Amino acid sequence: MENKKEYHILSLSGGKDSTALAFFMKENMPEIFEKLELVFCDTEQEIPETYDYLRKIEVFLNKKITQLKPRVGFEQIFQTRKILPSINRRWCTVELKTRPFNLFVHNLLKNQQGSKVILYIGIRADESFRTYNRDKFSNKSIVEHFPFVEYNITKNDVENILEKCGIGYSDYYKWRKRSGCYFCMFQSKKDWLNLYYNHPQLYKKAMSYEYAQTDYGKRKRFGWNSEISLKDLIKPKNIKIVEEEYNKLKKRKSNHFTICSTKLIDLL
Ligand code: SF4
Repeated sequence: MENKKEYHILSLSGGKDSTALAFFMKENMPEIFEKLELVFCDTEQEIPETYDYLRKIEVFLNKKITQLKPRVGFEQIFQTRKILPSINRRWCTVELKTRPFNLFVHNLLKNQQGSKVILYIGIRADESFRTYNRDKFSNKSIVEHFPFVEYNITKNDVENILEKCGIGYSDYYKWRKRSGCYFCMFQSKKDWLNLYYNHPQLYKKAMSYEYAQTDYGKRKRFGWNSEISLKDLIKPKNIKIVEEEYNKLKKRKSNHFTICSTKLIDLL
């Protein structure tokens, strides 16, 4: 087949690993970096710190980030379904991330049989097990690469890469563990409280979606968190419980750290 092409794509999440990978590739794989396209699947529900960080990445790398938007946004989908996404019903990921990315690849490869997308993913060497049981792309023209696994880059190395290039971590790491939607159901109760402290208007917005569900209050699971509604979570007695549990856990982790580990503890 004529004109077979290879497109090199790095999908940024707004988190530390994929960001470090972009800087790592600039330094260690300059020829690929030259033709590398940085892509961000914007759910349009990210926290403001993520958008700030993406702008910073563009400046530091002197490269534009292609932002892929969902064809139909969260608000519109929710208004139709009136059911929140959940751990077992992750329609958010499918509609807001997977579909836009697949469409992007489809358009890129349209009428180019035999062309390929080489997708670079920031899975680190210390979590290489994640490369084994990944959901495979149905599009066989996408080939995944894991440079951090290949170069044995671990969590400490990622920290060093970000420090060395001067960009550091996104500001949200001061109060939250991961990138993604402000209402992500994978966040802990402490993360929810931190969202309330840092972005009360977003917390209230997430709370309003719980009320708007058709079956709100009719079943045990109230909404984003499987144990407690957002309205109840911010009652003083519950804040106290969550904060105390968090502090206990932190203490346990830090004791463990002192006794047997030379690694920095994670944020809880
Ligand atoms: S970050 Fe969370 S809420 Fe957003 S798309 Fe991913 S799983 Fe869904």
